[in-house]
Amino acid sequence: MSKSDFLIDISMKGLNRLFNYDYLVIQKIGKIKTICFIVDKSFVIGITLFFNSMGSLLVKHIHTLVTMDEQRREIQDGALLVHANVIQQVGTTAELDSLETDEILDLQNRYIVLPGLINTHHHFYQTLTRAVPAAQDCDLFNWLQTLYPMWANLTSDAIYASAQMAAAELMLSGCTTSSDHLYVFPNDCTLDDEIRGVQDIGLRFHASRGSMSVGESQGGLPPDSLVEAEADILKDSQRLI
Ligand SMILES: [Zn+2]
Repeated sequence: MSKSDFLIDISMKGLNRLFNYDYLVIQKIGKIKTICFIVDKSFVIGITLFFNSMGSLLVKHIHTLVTMDEQRREIQDGALLVHANVIQQVGTTAELDSLETDEILDLQNRYIVLPGLINTHHHFYQTLTRAVPAAQDCDLFNWLQTLYPMWANLTSDAIYASAQMAAAELMLSGCTTSSDHLYVFPNDCTLDDEIRGVQDIGLRFHASRGSMSVGESQGGLPPDSLVEAEADILKDSQRLI
């Protein structure tokens, strides 16, 4: 590891214990940002690789390259060619080593590389109210009714911050693609806020515009301040499409 590597062992202790990693290392190699989980200080079991460039990158000497392709190939001493943010080719290091690329990342046969995980269900904005004591150990409806009044105070900035926090957490655990279901739009909140938040971090993202139109006064669960008129929902959905 070079001097520019930094360990966030202390602040991430809880996470490390949870996953049984000795170290969580965030490493920057040229333009390439990688997040690696290391066990027993010498062997890396996972790497989240973010390469954001229109150029080309050869990752070589991968201890085991897990392709998840139709044949479920696991390639020893593997190599991976990325061009313009798309994986173009996988094979052994011997097969791909002669390719001309802008950047090379030599993993010295110490890493297992696998496709990024995909998260198909999330509500990023709820990241902000995860540790509210009154909402702990509740059933679903009590949990919702405790938090709805807080969510009614959400702002554009809060949606932006929650999206960045949720995206960072996902990336730290190996997730490179996520969807999100945002369905509360009080005050100045828009779906654009979370799209901006995630774009600034770099996670691959599928946003979705949910909605609620039946509030307490009509027999619904959420307070009226958290629901929208159907005409407004349709209009904003059309704008986003
Ligand atoms: Zn849900």
